Amino acid sequence: SSNNLQGYAPICLGLEDFYIRRLYLRIQDCFGRPISSAPDAWFDIVERYSNDNNKTLIRTSKLTRCLNLGSYNYLGFAAADEYCTPRAIQSLKKYSASTCSSRVYGGTTVLHNDLEESVAKFVGKPAAIVFGMGYVTNSAILPVLMGKGDLIISDSLNHNSIVNGARGSGATIRVFQHNTSSHLEEVLREQIAEGQPRTHRPWKKIMVIVEGIYSMEGEIGKLPEILAICKKYKAYTYLDEAHSIGAVGKTGRGVCELLGVDTADVDVMMGTFTKSFGSCGGYIAGSKELIQYLKYTCPAHLYATSISPPAAEQIISAIRVILGEDGSSRGAQKLARIRENSNFFRSALQKMGFEVLGDNDSPVMPIMLYNPAKIPAFSRECLKQNVAIVTVAFPATPLLLARARICISASHSKEDLIKALEVISRVGDLVGIKYFPAEPNKQ
Ligand code: PMP
Repeated sequence: SSNNLQGYAPICLGLEDFYIRRLYLRIQDCFGRPISSAPDAWFDIVERYSNDNNKTLIRTSKLTRCLNLGSYNYLGFAAADEYCTPRAIQSLKKYSASTCSSRVYGGTTVLHNDLEESVAKFVGKPAAIVFGMGYVTNSAILPVLMGKGDLIISDSLNHNSIVNGARGSGATIRVFQHNTSSHLEEVLREQIAEGQPRTHRPWKKIMVIVEGIYSMEGEIGKLPEILAICKKYKAYTYLDEAHSIGAVGKTGRGVCELLGVDTADVDVMMGTFTKSFGSCGGYIAGSKELIQYLKYTCPAHLYATSISPPAAEQIISAIRVILGEDGSSRGAQKLARIRENSNFFRSALQKMGFEVLGDNDSPVMPIMLYNPAKIPAFSRECLKQNVAIVTVAFPATPLLLARARICISASHSKEDLIKALEVISRVGDLVGIKYFPAEPNKQ
């Protein structure tokens, strides 16, 4: 600890109460920092406190302009956009910020119907239904689709909204090893025989739930293998594309497009508008019958206020830009840029000696810290050099698998990425998280 990292060393080494309390306070420092601008490539963070000689914590309200490597702003739509923003403002003036009604009682504007049509067309399914929140889309839909006597087989790293929805459904839940199709098959084989007709099994329905890109791993789901097994055992499939829709695939249509999977092979396609589309809400896309059924039965459709009209307009407009229907090539440029930025950044981090999780083309890049005591040091030291990075800890990850999770955006310039790499490299040396030898002369 000769390099005391300005007071971080005791918390890395000590186990006494005093240090644990200090670690807790420092970890708290990394979460819930208020932002005072749009979450674009650069944003303003409100500094909540500074450390006074390691004795007390003083509250301040200094604004710090930081390079933003934390928001899920994959295509850069979470900022004023020449096409989307004027339209969203127009819809705010026309419809107001809220419909103050549920979809069935006056909360369906023409925008809501347009949105569902354009989402269905975009993701390649006959119909879609939208909800005001992505989290609720999973947690409210699963209890409608599944219930007692049904079996849910869930990837071990599925998002909390899926876990909650699955638990709330009352179905029996089995978990398979993350992204491992051979284990999925083992779990299925414990329950049913290959090719057994759906009517002759101990379960009314079996549904396998996976994600397109895993948000804490940056990994792309092995969809073709998983779908082949689901087909073999006649299990329904549910795909959460929160992090992949808009972000990957030649025209932004997500993992199915990226991996050459026919969307007809996925029964329930779920996604959110909070990442690539710079808005809020979520969707389910599927057959006309499925969506009709959800519209009649899902409590979050019947009893919750519908998605805000300006948010709906933002999504419709963003989809138009992605598809080039705004008359420009900005959509195609954004898609090319997110891919180029992601692949450049991932390979540069790896060459520096960091342990980076995830796959090529994925804009989500976790850098392993392992020791949770390194979280506040990494986060604060990056922030001091005007780079804001999300750090993720227990319970979002296992206790000793803490990580920094970088999200790349199409709105990052090459200069932004180079600055970020320089800072991360310096902080990586300081905190001691370069677990592999660097590749010389290649950075
Ligand atoms: N599914 C996944 C895989 C997610 O990562 C998230 C949140 N990031 C959600 C669903 C919930 O979406 P939202 O934040 O839009 O509510």
